[in-house]
Amino acid sequence: MNSMESKLLGKVLIVDDDFTVCLLARETLEQAGFEVHAVDNGPDAIDLLETFTPDIILLDVLMPGMDGYLACQEIRKHPFGAAVPIVMMTGLDDFESIERAYHLGATDFISKPIHWLVLPHRVQYIVRSSRTYKELKQSEARLSHAQMIARLGNWEWDIVNDKLLWSKELFRMFAIDPLTFNGTFQAFLNATSPPDREMVQSAVDTAIATGRSLSIDHQILLPSGTERFVCTEAELQHDSAGRPCYMAGTIQDITERKLAEIKIRHLAYHDILTGLPNRALFSDRLTQALYRSERSAEKLAVLFFDLDDFKAINDTHGHRIGDLLLIEASRRLDEVTRAGDTLARLGGDEFTVFLHDIKSEENALLVANHHLNNLLAAFQIEDKQLFVSASVGIALFPDHGSSAEVLIKSADAAMYQAKQHGKSHVQLFTQTMSCKASERLSQQEDLRRALDNDEFVLHYQPRVNLLNGTWSGVEALVRWQHPDRGLILPLAFIPLAEETGLIMELGQWVLREATMQLHRWHLAGINLARVSVNVSPLQFRRQNLIEIVKSALSEATLCPQALEIEITESAMMNDMDQSIITLKQLRQLGVNISIDDFGTGYSSLSHLRSMPVDTLKVDRSFVTNAHASEEDAQILTAIIAMAHSLKLEIVAEGVECEIHETLLIAQRCREAQGFYYAEPMSAEALTSLLLEQTLPLAPMKYAILDLSQDICCLINGDPTTFGGDPLQLACRLLPGRPPACRGKASCEPVAPTSFS
Ligand code: C2E
Ligand code: MG
Ligand code: MG
Repeated sequence: MNSMESKLLGKVLIVDDDFTVCLLARETLEQAGFEVHAVDNGPDAIDLLETFTPDIILLDVLMPGMDGYLACQEIRKHPFGAAVPIVMMTGLDDFESIERAYHLGATDFISKPIHWLVLPHRVQYIVRSSRTYKELKQSEARLSHAQMIARLGNWEWDIVNDKLLWSKELFRMFAIDPLTFNGTFQAFLNATSPPDREMVQSAVDTAIATGRSLSIDHQILLPSGTERFVCTEAELQHDSAGRPCYMAGTIQDITERKLAEIKIRHLAYHDILTGLPNRALFSDRLTQALYRSERSAEKLAVLFFDLDDFKAINDTHGHRIGDLLLIEASRRLDEVTRAGDTLARLGGDEFTVFLHDIKSEENALLVANHHLNNLLAAFQIEDKQLFVSASVGIALFPDHGSSAEVLIKSADAAMYQAKQHGKSHVQLFTQTMSCKASERLSQQEDLRRALDNDEFVLHYQPRVNLLNGTWSGVEALVRWQHPDRGLILPLAFIPLAEETGLIMELGQWVLREATMQLHRWHLAGINLARVSVNVSPLQFRRQNLIEIVKSALSEATLCPQALEIEITESAMMNDMDQSIITLKQLRQLGVNISIDDFGTGYSSLSHLRSMPVDTLKVDRSFVTNAHASEEDAQILTAIIAMAHSLKLEIVAEGVECEIHETLLIAQRCREAQGFYYAEPMSAEALTSLLLEQTLPLAPMKYAILDLSQDICCLINGDPTTFGGDPLQLACRLLPGRPPACRGKASCEPVAPTSFS
């Protein structure tokens, strides 16, 4: 803004056909600090508005052609003339002319002859008040716009005369026509949702009685029947005598916020998949129910459901079908749940329900069985017919706990026990379970921490090739180096790791570490052909074992033939179809597959034929007992013979002494593993052993010959060194031979190379 503009009081347009008036007005006003334009007729004035925006127009009434009235009317139609103050200059000071001028849009009038000294003051005053008015209008428009954005309206209530004034925004918010609104407090109450009216009335009464400000959330009812949430706030004013006389406040539409709050609360307390209450809401409701049961001395039961083999459904059909099944199962459970009892999903395939006011534990058992029966019918999930059962644990109040937390835990422990009995079983809680449950929980936490703290180590036990007396490979066996309890053997923690799923992470680590160790041995010049890794059934079912194996091998730069996967016979039988698929893929890759603990499971010959397996590891019980038990010796012989006929490699586990070895060589068993050769040991210890020690294998073999001098079997070492009669030993080694033949057998040394 330049200095000229800063002094400018305003812009004036003078419209008068009287040249003298124009001249004098211009002179006076310019001197006072106005910018002045003057024209002598109406049409010129209207044209000028295109280029000049006056702050005031002084308009003569009597002009030839277009008179002042008409000019005023036309100026008001012009976009730039609509709001400008128009002051009529008239000698006609009759009331009618003035009235007409106002009617046509004039702001004010000045009588002629003009008082030139007063004119600048008059003009300045009109310009200033017009500006103030304009600013007020603008600020009002801004406020109304802001209120519209904030969905906020204001109101004023004259308490004494019960006159309520609403802003435009409030009429819009309540969808009420201002013309039909009778402007009383009752009219506001009528627009409030009926259930909230009493609360609103009492809040307003309290504000008036106490003088405190009012702030309440409530609902309003629109004429369309829809309800919205609003927040009403107000301050009270008092008259000079201190009596409450006036209330001014706002009403804000908070529907979106309230709906979001309701949604958030719902999400926080419900399971997204099934819509059922979650653990938090269940605990809450159970706690309330417990208070009531306590007061009325009633019994209450908590039922804990866990679907049987649900993981298998997820693994076989995918998570989407698994989710749909969970939804359907929750519906079935809901069907049997009484009103007043609460059914919840705690997570995964775990559901709970509490039964209030039950007469006895038999009642709870009945309900649990009713639930189980209701689950029996097939579930139609898309094009699949699926079946699902559940194991149920029951805890009773007050017998098995007095708080929600303890009751849920007790029911969980009972459910865990139910699982041990197989599918679809119901189990009532007993006190001994609580110790077991807490012990299990702390073990579980321990195991998790052990994984995080790298407390697991691998020990290795070598395998011996009985044909040529070389080390053929090693088996990796995991141990837990517990900070307090020392070295813990796998059977003490693998079952829990399997149960909790931690075996996946652990198993993956074992695979990577074992293959990496073989790589390190190779780098150290120790050419072990293979490392064997034990794999849990869960890893077959729930892990992408192929990818994990591939990446472990590539990290350790090993060929697949350098890895053997050991899976127990029973694990494989549990999930034949899936096991066979994965094993086939592993075998196609070139990985060796061996069945661990063979002989303890139920594999039949026909199974073995169809299975993608390279090696059988005979369970150590048969080896350990072979020299003492005729039956075990027979089994051992049969297994080895079967392996030979199926062209499978055979490894004997648990070789603890020379006699075991001798026996195995006699049966043409190719490989052996056991304390006789080496116990499982750390990688470092085994490295020294592999580098320094020779095998305890005797260099010489002896043949046991029958009467016709046919070799019946070969034994490793002189049978006389076993302390017993060599011929009796030969008899045990040859359980299938007729007794007549046995007594006449003889023993002779043979060169190792002749044994194939
Ligand atoms: P397994 O795979 O049958 O391993 C052989 C077990 O027999 C080992 O026990 C080993 O120490 C023991 N053993 C070896 N030679 C002899 C012997 O001459 N006499 C006797 N009495 N025992 C012998 P360990 O290390 O306690 O492992 C037990 C089982 O734990 C393993 O049986 C295997 O099923 C499992 N396991 C070990 N490591 C892992 C692993 O990383 N993952 C999985 N899933 N299971 C593992
Ligand atoms: Mg094994
Ligand atoms: Mg084994």
